[in-house]
Amino acid sequence: MVEIKNCVANLKMFIDGEWKESETLEIRPVINPANGEVISYAPEGTAADARAAIFAARRAFEEGVWSGISAQERASYLFKIAHKIEEYADELTQLETMDNGKPLREAGFDVGDAAACFRYYAGLITKPDGFTYHVADPMQAMVVREPVGVCGLIVPWNYPLLMSVWKIAPALAAGNTIVFKPSEVTPVTPKKLFEIFEEVGLPNGVANMVMGAGPVVGHEIASHPEVDMISFTGGTKTGKHIMKTAADTMKKVSLELGGKSPNIIFADADFETAVDYALFGIFAGSGQVCSAGSRILVEESIYDKFVERFVERAKYIKVGPGNDPASEMGPLVSQQHMEKVLHYIEVGKQEGATIACGGNRIVSNGLEKGYFVEPTVFINVKQEMKIVQEEIFGPVVVIQKFKDESEAVKLANNTIYGLAGAVFSNDGAKALRVIKKLRAGITWVNSYHPTYNEAPWGGYKQSGIGRSLGTFGLEEFQEIKQININLQVEPIGWFSN
Ligand code: NDP
Repeated sequence: MVEIKNCVANLKMFIDGEWKESETLEIRPVINPANGEVISYAPEGTAADARAAIFAARRAFEEGVWSGISAQERASYLFKIAHKIEEYADELTQLETMDNGKPLREAGFDVGDAAACFRYYAGLITKPDGFTYHVADPMQAMVVREPVGVCGLIVPWNYPLLMSVWKIAPALAAGNTIVFKPSEVTPVTPKKLFEIFEEVGLPNGVANMVMGAGPVVGHEIASHPEVDMISFTGGTKTGKHIMKTAADTMKKVSLELGGKSPNIIFADADFETAVDYALFGIFAGSGQVCSAGSRILVEESIYDKFVERFVERAKYIKVGPGNDPASEMGPLVSQQHMEKVLHYIEVGKQEGATIACGGNRIVSNGLEKGYFVEPTVFINVKQEMKIVQEEIFGPVVVIQKFKDESEAVKLANNTIYGLAGAVFSNDGAKALRVIKKLRAGITWVNSYHPTYNEAPWGGYKQSGIGRSLGTFGLEEFQEIKQININLQVEPIGWFSN
């Protein structure tokens, strides 16, 4: 395994093929959430830095250095990137753990998925696309797909590498040039990814990365007229702001936003399997997962037994630094985010819900400098409570009771979100009936969380617009053009003289 020190060299932005400081030379610390230590400094990019990246991307797009080469040639770059991600897998895994806090096991899965995503889109882009239509002679009609142009890609901190790749791989495959902004909290693995882009020799200006605050750099990308599309993953509130900002220049918008996803457990489910997946559904990623199963709905007849077993197991989750192989759950990503999660726990108590386990920051066993929160379970909740309705994005779950199928569906659909949902039951027809009634874009039966590069990812309602991954994810980054060709070139004769 590659030995990574507990800090990395100061980061830079990547604009038009060059590594750059912020124009003001300002920097901000990047913190390891497991111990609060500074691991690096990142440039505090400005609107002017964002514009430099946008102009580079525009120039590269217009020159056709990327959109003008064959799909097969673009694919060969993407295959090389996938290969390099695998070559640097150990380093990327350790960097991700150091910057985001997630256990090495989770970071390792993300790195593998990132390589597979590049490989998937490298394969997909060389497959047949477009249509021809039989219209009246002498016309021939056809439809072709083209890149959108300059794409602004803005991602959050919960999967710093993977969320970046979910956007960058299809955007580049389709022939776009990009201006990418990582979260200011987690820029370390995105920077390594751009080093890989440089190593495989992407033409200058094709892939640009600007760091800095969302309201400054992100806002400039969302508002600039030379950006044709915004693909954003993050909170619903920020997503709404971006959509409004992008409306002024009528950009194409793709939004992957928050969730408050229901995990419905029927009495006829395999009990231990349901408990096991329910734990995984909420506590993987310390609950900082957009699709987390943060509302567990359990059929009345097994409710008490389920809560007892779930709490018993939640208490034994080993919380610790991500780089300790024994850790099963890492810290929250930042002090600010930890405070937000702890605030929600207080709100839950004030609303009258009961804490069945957890509820506190962990300040013992050497974890006191990190941002660790106990796996927390609320029971005796009411549907209108904030802890039931709002996304907490931490290791906090509510367990609710339902009487029958129709009440389960009603409760499940009763939030503004519609990202994900699951049903546990051994009655296949019932499980599918309920899944079909869920207003959510990503669903599972007798499982929780698996995601595939081939399948579309995205939400209903206020969980977003559009889809990532699969053929749907590629289409987000493409325009559609109809071409009508006259095969008999002679005047139409519509007017008499
Ligand atoms: P935010 O919405 O705060 O930030 C996401 C990104 O947007 C960051 O890069 C941020 O920059 C940037 N940003 C912030 N303000 C603006 C602005 N005014 N204009 C342009 N860009 C801006 O989300 P979090 O980072 O807190 O991430 C957590 C959220 O992401 C959760 O709600 C989660 O559900 C959602 N998410 C959704 C996923 C999905 O697939 N549906 C997947 C993963 C997460 P900076 O942080 O640098 O200021």
